[in-house]
Amino acid sequence: MSNVYDFPGGIYPPERKQRSNQSALIQAPLPGRVILTLQQHSGQPATPCVAPGDEVKVGSVIAKREGMICSDLHASISGTVSEVGTTQITIDGDGQDNWERLPSLDWQRAEPSALLERLNESGIVGLGGAGFPTHIKARVVERHAIHTLVINAAECEPYITADDLTLRHHANEVLEGAQIVAKLCGAQHIMIGIEDNKPDAIKALKHALSNYQPINIELKVIPTRYPSGGERQLIKRLLNLDVPSGGLPADVGVLCHNPGTLLAILHAVRDGQPLVSRVVTLTGEAITQPGNRWVRLGTSVRELLEQAGLNTPELHQVIQGGPMMGSPLLTLDTPVTKLTNCLIAATLNELPPPPAESPCIRCGECESVCPVALLPQQLHWYARAQDDAKLERYHLFDCIECGACSYVCPSHIPLVVDYREAKSRIRLQRIEAVKAEHAKHRFEFRQARLAREEAEKQARKQARQAQQRRSSTSAAASSEKVDLRGLRIAHAAAKASVKKAEKTLARVAQEDPKQSLDDLEMQLATAQENLKAAELQLAQAREQQSSEESP
Ligand code: SF4
Ligand code: SF4
Repeated sequence: MSNVYDFPGGIYPPERKQRSNQSALIQAPLPGRVILTLQQHSGQPATPCVAPGDEVKVGSVIAKREGMICSDLHASISGTVSEVGTTQITIDGDGQDNWERLPSLDWQRAEPSALLERLNESGIVGLGGAGFPTHIKARVVERHAIHTLVINAAECEPYITADDLTLRHHANEVLEGAQIVAKLCGAQHIMIGIEDNKPDAIKALKHALSNYQPINIELKVIPTRYPSGGERQLIKRLLNLDVPSGGLPADVGVLCHNPGTLLAILHAVRDGQPLVSRVVTLTGEAITQPGNRWVRLGTSVRELLEQAGLNTPELHQVIQGGPMMGSPLLTLDTPVTKLTNCLIAATLNELPPPPAESPCIRCGECESVCPVALLPQQLHWYARAQDDAKLERYHLFDCIECGACSYVCPSHIPLVVDYREAKSRIRLQRIEAVKAEHAKHRFEFRQARLAREEAEKQARKQARQAQQRRSSTSAAASSEKVDLRGLRIAHAAAKASVKKAEKTLARVAQEDPKQSLDDLEMQLATAQENLKAAELQLAQAREQQSSEESP
């Protein structure tokens, strides 16, 4: 534990991990039917590309990526598409489990572009948090120099043991997945951050590290304290670096991935297997067979919990995620998604409703546990008063919603609920403010599309003329002088605009996954239309010049 640094605050809630970490990681039974929601990640939902009646195999693409911050969706069982709705696709299984895989890639030899494309077509998103598409995160190197890849194995929330079990069973493969990402982002150093309450996973990692690793990998065991697994907190702990307010880990040269994502990356590259299943912790006192299961995406939560021995009369609520940051499910007839890391089937005794709120006594407890060094008490007052200027000044949007302040508050004030509501309200206001701007951007997009269509028309016309000239014995030279230099400059400017729009979109989506990205996607689409038009004009000009120069 030497050489680890500290972050402010933090708490020690009961861990309750032993309920699900005692048994081996196993496969959940193959579901007879799956419901795959189109919005499985941050950003835009995917667009269906199948129709009812279509036959699919495991791994067939059923919805395509739409926009930049989005991800393809694949069938998680083989069978027949029975329904394509506006928000989900249903597949009735044939019980055969027939697969459609992509060709295997040798990551040590493959070009980075081929690896990036593989991540893109495999539908991988971050499996530890907000579900940011991995192929976009991997392109961080276009904008930042990355020196360290952090494997975030802290898994600090109570109850959740998915990463723990993943590492116990697949430590070698997680490290290999990390090396693929390190190769892509240029990191020379990989650091594993894990809390000391996972001795078996630590043992498995030490054993795996004794094998030859092409890149320097360092294991750091940190004392258990919530929320050590927050990206900023872990980077501080391991590297003593402070991610700036409103910034990203990449701003200090670091990239973070959780073990499940790295394993999914290896499966996609080595085995050609898209993301169709994930490890889910099933726990809580209302089930008799807790543990961790490989679960096909789209499996019904009810079915899964019943297989784990659900005691329905004892069940009080099911929480998706951990008890600190997760949310209660309104119905069990909901499917597992790429973001479902844990399902807690809790009894009333286990997770009772909080006592009634009483007035703040200004004890300062909340401030002492905040890992971001915010002033939760002030934020609470300003949130209730809807004083947005003060909320901004007191850095509301730096709050990671860890719930440590609510946990210690003797007045049982639901502080995080206040912050979430305030953030949603402010986001809505921002959306209203950008609507006018959005209309302008829609107009610009239309103009750009028309310009691109005109450029395509001209290209076709020029191709016809060139054909005629070639077949004519007396070719007439064009009277118009080609401004090749001007077109090259316009092309470079259009390319730079696309890069800038992509950068802005990726940054906003990563900083704030709940933000609406419609307007930024529109600006990117406009820049892409302009680039296509500029490419066509440049190609036409080159063609024209070469035909004039040829005898
Ligand atoms: S929820 Fe926000 S304000 Fe409360 S402790 Fe966590 S980071 Fe601080
Ligand atoms: S912990 Fe609760 S009671 Fe104490 S200062 Fe913070 S909000 Fe007020």
